[in-house]
Amino acid sequence: MAIATINPATGVTLQTFAPLTEAGLEAKLELAQRTFEQYRKTSLTQRSDWLQQAAQVLEQGRKHFAKLMTLEMGKPLAAAMAEVDKCVVVCRYYADRGAEFLADVPVATDARSSFVRYQPLGAVLAVMPWNFPFWQVFRFAAPALMAGNVGLLKHASNVPQCALAIEEIFHKAGFPAGAFQTLLIGSDKVAALMADDRIQAATLTGSEAAGASLAAAAGQHLKKIVLELGGSDPFIVLESADLEAAVAAAATARMLNSGQSCIAAKRFIVQEPIAAAFEQKLAAKFQSLRLGDPLQPETDVGPLATPGILQDLDKQVQACIHQGARVVMGGHPKVIQTQLPPDLQNGNFYPPTILTDFPPGTPADQEEFFGPVALLFSVPDLPSAIHLANSTSFGLGASAWTTNLDEAAQLTEELQAGAVFINGLVKSDPRLPFGGIKRSGYGRELGIQGIHEFVNIKTVWMK
Ligand code: NAP
Repeated sequence: MAIATINPATGVTLQTFAPLTEAGLEAKLELAQRTFEQYRKTSLTQRSDWLQQAAQVLEQGRKHFAKLMTLEMGKPLAAAMAEVDKCVVVCRYYADRGAEFLADVPVATDARSSFVRYQPLGAVLAVMPWNFPFWQVFRFAAPALMAGNVGLLKHASNVPQCALAIEEIFHKAGFPAGAFQTLLIGSDKVAALMADDRIQAATLTGSEAAGASLAAAAGQHLKKIVLELGGSDPFIVLESADLEAAVAAAATARMLNSGQSCIAAKRFIVQEPIAAAFEQKLAAKFQSLRLGDPLQPETDVGPLATPGILQDLDKQVQACIHQGARVVMGGHPKVIQTQLPPDLQNGNFYPPTILTDFPPGTPADQEEFFGPVALLFSVPDLPSAIHLANSTSFGLGASAWTTNLDEAAQLTEELQAGAVFINGLVKSDPRLPFGGIKRSGYGRELGIQGIHEFVNIKTVWMK
């Protein structure tokens, strides 16, 4: 895959980048290792100050960074600005709380003194996706740098300018030059990097295929990794729910980032007595969304990030329709393209779509739909809702709507997911751990758990 900025709204190539040469890559690895030897000795106060500075650089460049994201991967500008704001929050969170999370933890034993100490591991490779090109990186980098590790970023090939801008942000904030570096390389270089002694660990956010490939290389070289992979999150609405609130959240949860979010609600599982009303109200919400140029403030839904993502999504939708699913709305990308202004007609636009009444065996059963497509299922009762929710190989997040406390308790206990949100949409929050089970990955980001993923948890025992 070429490393290039191609505007997803117009299809125009704005800039291409030469990948790092072998010598260039070698120099960056050397610098990372040399920097780590000094950086690990810096004080927590110093690292906290640099993270505070990074937050300021982000705030000062908010519009510029947001526009970069929109130009490279097509998210509406307002969402891109909100993403920069969230990066500010995560930098400040670890700057403020990092020392507390990394402090020695005394443990009473038969020793005169025994405690747990958290120490950095070294250079951590971050393989990151394009869908939240700033947030995904900052939620790795802020805790990793606070803990004394150094970061090497292999970003998705379609967001090179975001990748370079993030490196620059950490430099401007005052971090040493080798503390955070961007590697403009293709994914074919990742396995070899896992074999390199200068890299101690890795984190990958992306598809199952990419995760499996990194895990194989990490397994071969016995290196620690964290994987944040795909999801087909259920959004359960029971008869007792506040229907208006549930529908409003459902539309937001599905359409966030034009549908390209790992924790977007993808399967809507609704109890039969309210299923028809839910379908009609959700369709009305989707109808009101404005699709178009993501740089315009009134746009709700932008283009998909690449033509390949559009094709994959459309293949899944057409397979469902062909096998007998009912189209509530949308489903035909060519129609929407002819309705757009001429300069957007080569963009990767997909219409908000709702499908329902699936016969068994369609892609809706098991696959992740990465775009603005809602899959509606109706079920008779709570046990069948939970059974359907748990019936995929994923386990990232789950949202459930009910006003009955017993139902809420059962959902909390029985949903197979890294997170359960009752009467709210699934979202990441720096204060709460984030991650999945089953084929959605392993390990956690954010919270105190996230900063403990890339540290040596050292036991100290003194007689
Ligand atoms: P992707 O193709 O897996 O790409 C993600 C990153 O992995 C990119 O940097 C990519 O580089 C790299 N990559 C691809 N194949 C690789 C391989 N064989 N070995 C090593 N690296 C490889 O994923 P995507 O399609 O861009 O992103 C969408 C997926 O990410 C969805 O499944 C979504 O659910 C998931 N996601 C999960 C989370 C979470 O927190 N759980 C968050 C966001 C997204 P190139 O660009 O150079 O190919």
